[in-house]
Amino acid sequence: MLKNNYHTHTWRCHHAVDEDEAYVLEAINAGIETLGFSDHIPFLNGPKSRIRMDISEMEDYLKSIRYLKDKYADQIRILVGFEAEYIDDEIPFYHALLREQRIDYLIFGNHLYEGYETSSQRIENAVQLQQYVDRAIAGMKSGLFQYLAHPDLFMVNIKDFDADCIQASKQLCQAALDLDMPIEFNCEGLRDHLNGHIFKNGTTLAYPHPQFWKIAAKMNNKVILGADAHASKALNDEAIKEAIRQTKELKLNMIDHLEI
Ligand SMILES: [Zn+2]
Ligand SMILES: [Zn+2]
Repeated sequence: MLKNNYHTHTWRCHHAVDEDEAYVLEAINAGIETLGFSDHIPFLNGPKSRIRMDISEMEDYLKSIRYLKDKYADQIRILVGFEAEYIDDEIPFYHALLREQRIDYLIFGNHLYEGYETSSQRIENAVQLQQYVDRAIAGMKSGLFQYLAHPDLFMVNIKDFDADCIQASKQLCQAALDLDMPIEFNCEGLRDHLNGHIFKNGTTLAYPHPQFWKIAAKMNNKVILGADAHASKALNDEAIKEAIRQTKELKLNMIDHLEI
């Protein structure tokens, strides 16, 4: 199953469930060697958000994960970090968290393609798609992040994988290659897919998008699986099995750990 997972959320983001310890116990049970917590980062300067912890909750998050890291040190390696957007006003905050070693790492979830009020899940035209790509590449180049999560998130509101999508995918894959940065094959999108969830594009398929991953396979990008767990059972479920099956079928160039 999963050897290492660096994409794990907690209840603090308001759309995940279970106590922090339940994730650790499930990971131990599943034989996971490294469990990285990467809940949605709080905004230091942005508006209040319904899908992320408040900045006032950050200390509790860091304390809780560090406590579990010590408690289960002989059974599993635990890391604490965040899944973060690349937002100009938040960048000094990210640098401070890493510099002061308050977190072990960041992964890059490009959910906001151009500022706090935009959503990569509501991309409607080629201009916005290019903004998503440009923001993703700028973030990848920043050196702040270990990998780009769900690079194909832009497909949530796009029905057909057209010429613009091909172009966007090639640009994203080329930038990742140039920077030697892994891109994430995300299990949460598959979970939605397996559950018949209808995306904004009106279909049950948004990401991981087969057309995107065919391009990534051809370009030989480094790919890492991310459980993107929003519940403890999502560290060892059907979506992960299906993701492993698909990545094998696509002959993707998989890696299973990060140097953190
Ligand atoms: Zn989430
Ligand atoms: Zn996530």
